[in-house]
Amino acid sequence: MVNQEYYKLGTAPSVIRQLFAYGLEQAKKVGAENVYDYSIGNPSIPAPKKVNESIKAIVDECDSVKVHGYSMAAGFEGARNAVAKDLSERFGLDVKAGELFFTCGAAPALVSVIKALTVSPETEIMLVAPFFPEYTPFVTSNGGKAVVIPADTKAFQIDLEKVEANITANTQAIIINSPNNPSGVVYTEETLTALAELLSRKGEQYGHPIYIIADEPYRELVYGGVRVPFIPTIYKNTIVCYSYSKSLSLPGERIGYVYVPAFAEDSKAVYAAVSGAARIIGHVCPPTLIQMTIERCAAERPDLAAYDENRILLYNSLTEMGYECAKPDGAFYLFVKAPDGNSEAFSEKAKLEHNLLVVPGGGFGCPEFFRLSYCVANDMIKRSLPAFKAMIESYK
Ligand code: PLP
Repeated sequence: MVNQEYYKLGTAPSVIRQLFAYGLEQAKKVGAENVYDYSIGNPSIPAPKKVNESIKAIVDECDSVKVHGYSMAAGFEGARNAVAKDLSERFGLDVKAGELFFTCGAAPALVSVIKALTVSPETEIMLVAPFFPEYTPFVTSNGGKAVVIPADTKAFQIDLEKVEANITANTQAIIINSPNNPSGVVYTEETLTALAELLSRKGEQYGHPIYIIADEPYRELVYGGVRVPFIPTIYKNTIVCYSYSKSLSLPGERIGYVYVPAFAEDSKAVYAAVSGAARIIGHVCPPTLIQMTIERCAAERPDLAAYDENRILLYNSLTEMGYECAKPDGAFYLFVKAPDGNSEAFSEKAKLEHNLLVVPGGGFGCPEFFRLSYCVANDMIKRSLPAFKAMIESYK
């Protein structure tokens, strides 16, 4: 006998993985150049040069027992100091190492924070559609309730009226993700300020803080001079979950952190509970080698030229063809409306007729739209354009 909830999760098909596997099979039959795979969000630009140089130097020069040994549960002081310094310099805050808890990427950071804030089966955590599909099991498998805020399908900002209508005495937090997967939209200062005002007012009404859990793996992936507001500077009760998976192209290295600002309400208790939750899920002492690398590379930023070129080519080409698309200022996704609003059918037809692999939006809480990950070769985008054209023509 096994835990049935986890059994279901472990055997549930992942649409993205299925599309990806289909693409690999089709490539053997029709040639890789005839498959247009926009399914997976795996970074396609290399990590900055300094990352690899640092790894080599650490392995060659540092004490091997330390490099391959355990770190402290919350991470090495050196790495936490380097990140604290970088955040302080960039965002005008006085971040301290003791406010940071290193994790194996954003996923365990989120699970630890959600676990820390889930106090009873009545606990409610709000998710703003469209959202990263894993949020749902992250919340429900910890015994809380996931309350979905329907998408604002015009601008893909946050529909604050719907947020307000869904806040109850049991609301502990709202998870927001900007730049957003899957829409590529960056929440504006105006949206975030209004959200902060609403959460402060409701928190006062119910007599407890309502936290923002800011999931920020794409914080550095932003184009055209658009600014990504740092949410703790707008709303004090913000807990940040960060990852280097996308920003430094290091998804396989599993490194990120939780930042619990000292000025957040009950910050000491929240930090302690995050560290206890990380212990329960077994995600403590993230890889030492990569922490030591982050210590040297905390101020490194990605070269986004290749993503930006893809973004402009795809966005301009698709909108010229007549597709409607959320304005993609960040991350590496486009969220495109299916011509008849049925993204499931669009995805299936595109796959079978054109080997064009796009992810239907149902799992993101937005079934009219499909997601394209444009962290792909620019040449593939050019080759795929006739397929997009044929698809939209077939709906006329
Ligand atoms: N949050 C969002 C919005 C993501 O898109 C992802 C990964 O794609 C994650 C969290 C998980 O990131 P990590 O690889 O750091 O666990």
